[in-house]
Amino acid sequence: MASPAFSAYRLNHSTFRITENSLLTKSSAENPQIYLKFYDALIVVIDTGSARKPDDKNITLRQFIETVPVAANDGKPLNEGGRREYTLVMTHCHFDRIGGISDFPASTVVCASSAARSFLAPATLPAHSLCELVAIPTPTYTPTLFLEDGETFPHVADHETPLLVVHTPGHTPDSLSLYDPGERNLFVGDTLYENTAMTFPMQGNLQAYMSSLDKLLALVHKERDGATLAGGRGVWDVDAGSLVGYVRGFMERVLNGSAVGVGKGESRGIKVIEYGEGKVSFFAPERVFEDGRKALGFAYTSKP
Ligand SMILES: [Zn+2]
Repeated sequence: MASPAFSAYRLNHSTFRITENSLLTKSSAENPQIYLKFYDALIVVIDTGSARKPDDKNITLRQFIETVPVAANDGKPLNEGGRREYTLVMTHCHFDRIGGISDFPASTVVCASSAARSFLAPATLPAHSLCELVAIPTPTYTPTLFLEDGETFPHVADHETPLLVVHTPGHTPDSLSLYDPGERNLFVGDTLYENTAMTFPMQGNLQAYMSSLDKLLALVHKERDGATLAGGRGVWDVDAGSLVGYVRGFMERVLNGSAVGVGKGESRGIKVIEYGEGKVSFFAPERVFEDGRKALGFAYTSKP
């Protein structure tokens, strides 16, 4: 059964995907995707959906998980009565990831990347979460567990498979991905997807982004391919190696000048540009692309 705010689908044996039908997104491909990985005694919740406009009266993510029947879960709520504990992981601090945190019990472990702790400081969170930009109140939360690159978590029973943490800065400094070796599933947040523009904020860093894509490619190849990529929006069941490889190649062509911008404009006084090809597109302030070119040694400069 659907709720006005969320719909849940089975992703694989141990994981569900929840789509948030956010009032803040312009198309369904932009809707945030939330993933729930089930362990015997615990649910790892990957992102918690969007911060809300004050007049949004839809049920919360937690209410959905604990009370709304889901057809793909034999007609039962995903965590009826909150029987299993939660661990929340933020793939990054943007407003459409951190919105549901405060509704979970205060004792819930909240994980974030250890790579950019200062980026999550309360004083700058309204800007870094983009809440200020989209004019919604900034959710308050405090990460309680900073995840290191290469770490495995959570601590689970011997017969269960923990997740591998992969720091993937670029979209933001605190972006992280998670790999589930048991299900061969790669959760990447907003690092990459298709069907809607991959958008970089002013804090985007394309040098770091290219390194992160290289890291994901190495991981997927080590797994002898066959891994599935689950994005924070846009896609949830595509071949990871193919999409990461394609996105990396396209970004390289954008940076070396062989891809042409498909749209240009100004957003809140900042010059922005979009590059697109098929289902894949990048949208960012021009300066983010220029800084990436300089850092990576590409000579190309976009023409006015
Ligand atoms: Zn984001």
